[in-house]
Amino acid sequence: MGEVRFDFFKALGEFFIHAVNLIGLCRKAKCDFTISVVAKQNVKLTARLLDEHVQRLRACALCPKMHKPVVSGGAVVSKVMLVGQAPGDKEPIMGRPFAWTAGRTLFRWFTDAAGMSEEQFRSSIYMAAVCRCFPGKKATGGDRVPAPDEVEQCSAWLKREVEILKPELVIPVGKLAIEQFIPPQKLNDIIGKKMRVMYAGHEFDLIPLPHPSGASPWHRMEPGKTLLKQALKMIAEHPAFRERL
Ligand code: SF4
Repeated sequence: MGEVRFDFFKALGEFFIHAVNLIGLCRKAKCDFTISVVAKQNVKLTARLLDEHVQRLRACALCPKMHKPVVSGGAVVSKVMLVGQAPGDKEPIMGRPFAWTAGRTLFRWFTDAAGMSEEQFRSSIYMAAVCRCFPGKKATGGDRVPAPDEVEQCSAWLKREVEILKPELVIPVGKLAIEQFIPPQKLNDIIGKKMRVMYAGHEFDLIPLPHPSGASPWHRMEPGKTLLKQALKMIAEHPAFRERL
């Protein structure tokens, strides 16, 4: 029968290795716990700041020519922001952005490209705009384009939203919205592309979309059709967007 020998120093060495591993695991668990508590507190703070922000926004009366009420999609805490241009005449009645025909097209794009329903979209993505009030009709028909001073006034709301939410992805819809983030360019040159943009002291991905209204046929004709598909695919595959699904 072989002799079984107890090697004290070997056992002591193994004990120390296990003890060090155990301490490491405990430290990591404590660290993970602390990180998750801090993350939860940050989400709570962001939600409170955004809630207060939306209440102040809804009471805004800075532009005398703009029609009331202010249109807001509500205080949805999200790392994805959609930025429209300005509400039409139906949105103030319906009480939410993209509530009419352009909205139907916009939400169909997201349902087709990402399987996201309109309600899922509204409840998981923050919906901002260049101007939050209906500008009124032009004498010649159609909606009035917001004046530069109105765009400037309303940009303070948008900047604050970027500061609060620190988005990872911003989706500007239509030329006026796109031009808040990058210099004016042809839709052919920017739709279907992802850009890294700095705005209000925060850096994020920008994937522009054309406006879904029937006023411009750009997205229904080539190359617009293909470029729009590319842009929607990029959005659907973006990590910040996928997290919302
Ligand atoms: S357009 Fe913007 S800045 Fe002007 S009144 Fe409406 S919310 Fe206020």
